[in-house]
Amino acid sequence: MRLQGKVTLITGSGSGIGKSSALLFAKEGAAVIVNDLDEARGNETVKEIRDAGGEAVFIQADVTDPESVQSMVNQAIAKFGRIDVLFNNAGISGVGAIHEVEPDAWDRVINVNIRGVFLPCKYVLPHMMDRREGSVINMSSCIAEIGLARRASYSATKGAVLALTKSMQVDYAPYNIRVNALLPGTILTPFVEDYLRKSYDNPEEAYEGLKKRQLSGDLGRPDDVAKAALFLASDDSKFMMGSPLYIDGGVVFGKNA
Ligand code: NAD
Repeated sequence: MRLQGKVTLITGSGSGIGKSSALLFAKEGAAVIVNDLDEARGNETVKEIRDAGGEAVFIQADVTDPESVQSMVNQAIAKFGRIDVLFNNAGISGVGAIHEVEPDAWDRVINVNIRGVFLPCKYVLPHMMDRREGSVINMSSCIAEIGLARRASYSATKGAVLALTKSMQVDYAPYNIRVNALLPGTILTPFVEDYLRKSYDNPEEAYEGLKKRQLSGDLGRPDDVAKAALFLASDDSKFMMGSPLYIDGGVVFGKNA
């Protein structure tokens, strides 16, 4: 029970990595505030947690909207009195090289993936500062470290999140708040299935190509990242500050012949 008594907020936890993390955090004793834009998916995560005997509530909010995020944080504080762990997980994909990306599509990816980290931090951090305690986990990606084809907007956002994590850590270390980043490789979630469908004429062939890119020979699974998030959320990682944590099947530091 590595999160016994902790109150955790996970954005975008109606699906994929966020959902898997919500289930694991609850299993480890945390009360989980499940956030998502999608009400049905968020409620399903809460149901699965409660069915397993855990504690969770769903609060719908769009992480790009200040009023919506502020209201979510206020509701969470009213119910639980504090937030110990903020996991900024919500994100969307963006496909295309610069010349292929429409300005509106660019803005959407930048908005969700960067503003959607900024806003929950902005409204949660003052509560953590008051209590002089907290762990913030920001979702970056291994694409912050390596170039990948036709991922211009997405790579720009994940690089920004990694840089932001390091500067945030300097600002909030005096308040005993840790800020770290997750850098997953390719993880088999609805997000990647959608990317494969939209980007390739033959998604099956593309999937096989993605598998070969990993030294592991297969894609990661949501639970692989959830376990890393649990480590950053818990006191087991108390000496990790401003760090990137790679969960990538060897994509960043290895090279397939
Ligand atoms: P997913 O699509 O399965 O889940 C993302 C969830 O975020 C969805 O439930 C969606 O409704 C929610 N969401 C989207 N916009 C939102 C908004 N404005 N407000 C609130 N919720 C919103 O995706 P996933 O694969 O689990 O990815 C989760 C995070 O991990 C993303 O930030 C993604 O960039 C990152 N990531 C994923 C991979 C991968 O290979 N799957 C790799 C590296 C990083």
